[in-house]
Amino acid sequence: MSEKLSFKDRVVVITGAGGGLGKVYALAYAARGAKVVVNDLGGTLGGSGHNSRAADLVVDEIKKSGGVAVANYDSVNENGEGIIQTAVKEFGRVDVLINNAGILRDVSFAKMTESEFASVVDVHLTGGYKLSKAAWPHMRSQKFGRIINTASPAGLFGNFGQANYSAAKLGLVGLGETLAKEGAKYNINVNSIAPLARSRMTENVLPPHILKQLGPEKIVPLVLYLTHESTKVSNSIFELAAGFYGQIRWERSSGQIFNPDPKTYTPEAILNKWEEITDFKDKPFNKTQHPFQLSDYNDLITKAKEL
Ligand code: NAD
Repeated sequence: MSEKLSFKDRVVVITGAGGGLGKVYALAYAARGAKVVVNDLGGTLGGSGHNSRAADLVVDEIKKSGGVAVANYDSVNENGEGIIQTAVKEFGRVDVLINNAGILRDVSFAKMTESEFASVVDVHLTGGYKLSKAAWPHMRSQKFGRIINTASPAGLFGNFGQANYSAAKLGLVGLGETLAKEGAKYNINVNSIAPLARSRMTENVLPPHILKQLGPEKIVPLVLYLTHESTKVSNSIFELAAGFYGQIRWERSSGQIFNPDPKTYTPEAILNKWEEITDFKDKPFNKTQHPFQLSDYNDLITKAKEL
């Protein structure tokens, strides 16, 4: 059997760790020896209000189990730097950053106001940027860093009523892909995850029999694996839910090279060659086929049970 993956003395910053996925990450890292910054603004699902209680309760739980943690109540998009400063001030460094904080303001695009769009992009994408930007010099100078950006199936595939959220989530993937390239020579790995899990974000959307399968603890193993010092994986996107763990990748069709004569570059030539341009027949991946449509979901869970 392989050795247990330890995070002893690693400093892990988790945003939005007062509940949901962030909380289970915090408990898991602390149980494996990490010093954890538990950040949470303690607001509503829509992002209003704030309360220190959510983060405090998680810190108390970690301390009661003999772990090391400190709370931070800053908003990721307003004072991302302050969250990283808490890690550096309390524990002297930052090794792992989990960009996890998030809000929802779901409404169809026709009715979405600019403020509903901007506020969701601000928390997810600007928040992810601010934390990464503040952690970056520390990770570069110590030549070690692990960052997880929390994307979403909604960002990868789109979802009704979530234009703001989808834009922010795919934005985080793009941010991560570039940071992975810029961070490679400093041993900074950056990956994105698109989870589906039971939390206040999903409990009023999905039916109970599906929610039952979606324990947030099933998201933890991949996040810990990806952020361990021994893991070299970077610049990758993973989709996970209900005990399923898979990788997502972009694929290019076989395509068509046109004759270099500029006269051939016409819309009619595109029309004539459309089948070749869009030919994926040797490449079965179909981006429009959402793997988490509820009809498919039952199959997935059944398969997971069979294993
Ligand atoms: P959650 O609402 O339980 O957790 C989000 C946490 O972020 C909350 O505790 C909230 O207080 C905190 N937060 C919100 N705005 C903040 C801010 N400005 N600064 C600091 N903290 C803030 O929901 P969750 O399901 O655990 O979501 C965690 C992450 O996973 C989110 O980014 C979410 O978009 C993403 N996600 C979740 C699912 C799912 O199925 N649950 C699916 C895809 C993506």
